[in-house]
Amino acid sequence: MNVKHYDAIVLGAGAAGLTAGIYLARANLKTLIINEGSIGGQMVLTHAVANYPGVLEASGRDISLIMKKQAKEFGCDIESNVEITKLDLNSNKKMIEIDDDEVFTSDVVILATGGKPRKLGAKNEDKFKGFGISYCATCDGDFYTDKDVIVVGGGNSALEEAVSLTKWVRSITIVHQFDNFQATDHAIEQAKKNDKISFILESEITEYLGEQQVEGVKIQNQKTGEFSELKTDGVFVYVGYIPNTDNFKDIIDLSERQEILTDANMQTNIKGVFSAGDVRIKKIRQITTAVSDGTIAALNAIEYLQN
Ligand SMILES: Cc1cc2nc3c(=O)[nH]c(=O)nc-3n(C[C@H](O)[C@H](O)[C@H](O)COP(=O)(O)OP(=O)(O)OC[C@H]3O[C@@H](n4cnc5c(N)ncnc54)[C@H](O)[C@@H]3O)c2cc1C
Repeated sequence: MNVKHYDAIVLGAGAAGLTAGIYLARANLKTLIINEGSIGGQMVLTHAVANYPGVLEASGRDISLIMKKQAKEFGCDIESNVEITKLDLNSNKKMIEIDDDEVFTSDVVILATGGKPRKLGAKNEDKFKGFGISYCATCDGDFYTDKDVIVVGGGNSALEEAVSLTKWVRSITIVHQFDNFQATDHAIEQAKKNDKISFILESEITEYLGEQQVEGVKIQNQKTGEFSELKTDGVFVYVGYIPNTDNFKDIIDLSERQEILTDANMQTNIKGVFSAGDVRIKKIRQITTAVSDGTIAALNAIEYLQN
């Protein structure tokens, strides 16, 4: 089998991975980014990014294409839409096999494989994703100025994001499957005392309703089994987050939530293996924070290689 050696390999070509690629390649390191999906990661799901400094408003796809161009112009190689079929991160020389037929080795690896918001699983969720269903209040909140929205979930994210949405929206209904919240007392208190927020508890959304855009939801009361409908302009879903760490289970130290554990230098438990972006343990998941992590991981990887 053909084996190709790189100084550095980055797994994931989202904001974090592309940023790491830019810094590594610009430092004249022979760099490869391997991406299982399409380039840009979660950025390409966002039709209008309005909070990335220096860019007034652009689609996430356009921003990722610029990042990709920058990485390539500095000499970074990119393999995308491939599958990782073997991985050895423990040795000094790291090994990654893709599609069962190509092997790459490197001295340093950055894991930037991101993650995905957990879906609710209600009917029509895929149809309306981006058309009235959002997984990010910080990103999409202002599109719902003076509108009535629903927030789904009962953890800290749901309650905190609901409170943050009150800056824009007219009203929020929090729909939660239990009669109690899995959040801190502070988050619960902040949500409860906000006049714009009301609650439907022990209930689950079973279906999104509408033509082109979400116009309402069907809700089932978990106690009585009864169904009701509620009109809404949009639904923000906060029922968890799934980090893409399946490939690293039993190799890298993960949190209870399967996020990669790192220190402030983005160093994992394995020498020469760093991590960046949404896949690692962190509270705020944004393009800016992914870019920041990618920068820190790459610069520390460069220092590691120099020593
Ligand atoms: C709908 C939505 C809207 C958003 N809007 C905004 C916004 O307006 N502003 C903002 O700042 N943030 C926004 N965010 C958050 C932001 O997109 C993310 O925080 C950021 O893009 C994460 O970048 P990342 O590189 O860490 O991970 P990702 O973007 O998840 O990229 C990871 C990449 O790794 C690939 N991959 C997965 N597994 C593997 C593997 N095993 N090997 C190799 N590659 C792998 C994936 O295919 C993907 O391409 C939004 C998120 C969502 C879901």
